[in-house]
Amino acid sequence: MRLILLGPPGAGKGTQAARLVEKFSIPQLSTGDMLRAAVKAGTPVGLQAKTVMDAGGLVSDEIVCGIISDRIEEADAVNGFILDGFPRTVAQAKALDELLAEKGMRLDAIIELKVDESALLARIEKRAADTIAAGGTVRADDNPDAFKVRLVAYREQTAPVSAYYASRGVLKTVDGMAPIADVTKALDAVLG
Ligand code: ADP
Repeated sequence: MRLILLGPPGAGKGTQAARLVEKFSIPQLSTGDMLRAAVKAGTPVGLQAKTVMDAGGLVSDEIVCGIISDRIEEADAVNGFILDGFPRTVAQAKALDELLAEKGMRLDAIIELKVDESALLARIEKRAADTIAAGGTVRADDNPDAFKVRLVAYREQTAPVSAYYASRGVLKTVDGMAPIADVTKALDAVLG
């Protein structure tokens, strides 16, 4: 099962991806998580990505496409994967089409979680508060200023990705405003 989860920051992609990981025994490939790991490890990619990520902007298509191209060939992804946070630009979506074709892989579903923009900031603030309560470290971009930039990046660069798949008739949408368990059920229904 090869899936793409689309949706704005705070849509619940990570929460639902965690459930799909269990259900299908496939890994969740979050470019955000991979980039944060690179930042933490101080790799060349991480050093390049840190400033733009902290500000809420997008890392270059070249970097993220390279990361994903390598990652989907790893052993744990032979039965499929869930892409979370990728593709985030139409250029990335087109690059993904090409690299899947080269590798002889096909996508099974592309699903967008639809969430009202007005609900997103509150979700991000809750995530930051929950992280602090649990004694963790809040993401550098989970603050109102960076969030505004993330939302603009989403509107201008990532919303067109949904339109790209919709125009090809392969986009499915699920209401991400519903309670978590209901979103999970809706995803199950869409995935058959
Ligand atoms: P969110 O929770 O807002 O969806 P992620 O954890 O997916 O955010 O990503 C955090 C940051 O990592 C993004 O704001 C961006 O800087 C960078 N990033 C992640 N995925 C991509 C991508 N596919 N293309 C460009 N930048 C990305």
